[in-house]
Amino acid sequence: MSKVKLFSGENIPLEMHKVRIVQKLNLPPVEDRLAAMKEAGNNTFLLHNRDVFMDMLTDSGVNAMSDNQLAAMMMADDAYAGSETFNRLHSKLKEIFGMEFFLPAHQGRAAEHIIAKTFVKPGDVVAMNFHFTTTKAHITECGGRVEELVSDEGINTTSRCLFKGNMDLNKLTDCIARNQGHMAFIRMEAGTNLIGGQPVSLQNFRDVTKIAKDNGILTVLDASLLQDNLHFIKTREEACADMSIREITRAIADCFDIVYFSARKLGFARGGGICTRDAALSESMKELVPMFEGFLTYGGMSVREMEAITVGLEETMDEDIINQGPMFIEFMTNELVKRGIPVVTPAGGLGCHLNAREFLPQLNDHQYPAGALAAAIYIASGVRGMERGTLSEQREPDGTEPIAAMELVRLALPRRVFTLSQVMYAVDRIDWLFRNRHLIGGLRWVEEPKVLRFFFGRLEADGDWQERLASAFRRDFGDSL
Ligand SMILES: *Cc1c(COP(=O)(O)O)cnc(C)c1O
Repeated sequence: MSKVKLFSGENIPLEMHKVRIVQKLNLPPVEDRLAAMKEAGNNTFLLHNRDVFMDMLTDSGVNAMSDNQLAAMMMADDAYAGSETFNRLHSKLKEIFGMEFFLPAHQGRAAEHIIAKTFVKPGDVVAMNFHFTTTKAHITECGGRVEELVSDEGINTTSRCLFKGNMDLNKLTDCIARNQGHMAFIRMEAGTNLIGGQPVSLQNFRDVTKIAKDNGILTVLDASLLQDNLHFIKTREEACADMSIREITRAIADCFDIVYFSARKLGFARGGGICTRDAALSESMKELVPMFEGFLTYGGMSVREMEAITVGLEETMDEDIINQGPMFIEFMTNELVKRGIPVVTPAGGLGCHLNAREFLPQLNDHQYPAGALAAAIYIASGVRGMERGTLSEQREPDGTEPIAAMELVRLALPRRVFTLSQVMYAVDRIDWLFRNRHLIGGLRWVEEPKVLRFFFGRLEADGDWQERLASAFRRDFGDSL
C-alpha cells in the first residue's frame, strides 16, 4: 500500500485487503443520540452499541480478523491440558520473540496482575515511559508507585519528534539513584497508549534496558501496542530501514527480561500472556496462572482465540498488514489538521487523538474537557470515542484529583474496520463541532467509583449545553441524520 503512487499525486491510504463480511450500522437521529448520551451518564463506555454509528472507543478485541484467522479457529484442538493449539501459540511466540517460556492469561491486565503481584512490594517503584490505566491500578494495588519518565516531548501535543514514547535517560538514572533497592522493575510501553499511541525507538529500548542491566534491574516490555510501533520503527528510524519487521521484533524482545501483551490488540484476537527467556522468572510467576487465569495451557483463553492469535502474530510480521492502521490514522489526523482542529501530532498508532484543552479553552480541567468533548462528538455524529484525560485518572488516597498531563479524546481506528468515507464523515462532523465549540460546557460527577472510575462512572452536563448543541445541529443539518 505504501508502494502505490497515484497519478493525481494525492496521498490516500490504499487498502491491501478486501471486505468479505459486513455488519449493518445504525445512525440514530440527533435527538435520540442526546437521549442515549444522557442515559449513559455522559460516559461513552456505557452507551449501547446499537446506538453507535462508528465505534471508535478502542481497538481492543474489535479489529477485523483475516480469513486465515477464522479458518484456524475451526481447527482448534480443544483440551483442558496439553492442547496442540497451545503448542502452536507457544511455538509462534518463541519464534518471534526468541523467548522460551510462555504463561497464558485471559487478557493484558491479567498479565499485569501476575507481574505486579510477583514483583511489586509495598514501597516499591516501577519506572516507566508512561503509565497505562490498568497497569497503574495493579501496581498501586500491590502498594507500589509509578514514576513516569517519558521525554518532555512526549507530552507536547504538537511536536515534530518522531518517537514521543521514548524514555528520558537522564530521568531514568536520576530515578534509579533516588530509589536504590526499591526499583521493582522498569517497564517500557510500546506504542505509548495514553499520550496518543506514540512510538518508542529501537535505540531507546536498547539504551533504557542497558542502563537497567548495568544496575541489575528487571526489565518488562508491554507489547500490547507493539504492532504500530514496529511500523513506526521501520518507517521512521533510519538505522532500521533495512531491517524486516521480524528482525525489528526480535531486536526489541532481545532487550527485555519479560514481554507481556494484550492479544486483544497484538495478534488481532482476544487473550494475552507473559513471555520470558528465564526459567526462574517464569517459575516465580507460574503458580498465579492456575490460581487466577486457568490451567497453564489456556490461561482463560478459548482454544479458538489462541489459534487466531497464532495466525495474527504471524500476520503482524507483514508490513502490508500492520501499516493499514497507522496510515488511516495519519490520513484522518492530516484532514483534521487541515481544518485547524487541534490533534496530537505527529500521528501515532491506535487512533486519532483530539486535544480537548485546546478544542475547549473555555473549560477548566475540573470540568473534564475531554469527557465533555467525547459526549459532544457522540451527540453530533453518533461516533463513540474515549476520554483519555483527567476522568481516566484515579484520585489520590487523600481524595485530591490528579490532573492528567493531557486531555485527549481518542478516536480509535480498529484495524480494517472502517472505510475512508466513514473516516471522512467523522472528520466532517468534528469540523462542524469545532465551529460550534463555544456551545460545549463541562461535566460533573453523579456517581464516581473508587477504582478505574472512567469505566462505569456517571456524569451530568453543567446546564443545558447538550440540548443547545442538538438544536444547533438540527438548525444546520435540517432532516439529515
Ligand atoms: C489494552 C492495554 C492493556 C490491557 O490489556 P487488556 O487486554 O485490555 O486487559 C495494557 N497495556 C496497554 C498498553 C494496552 O493498550
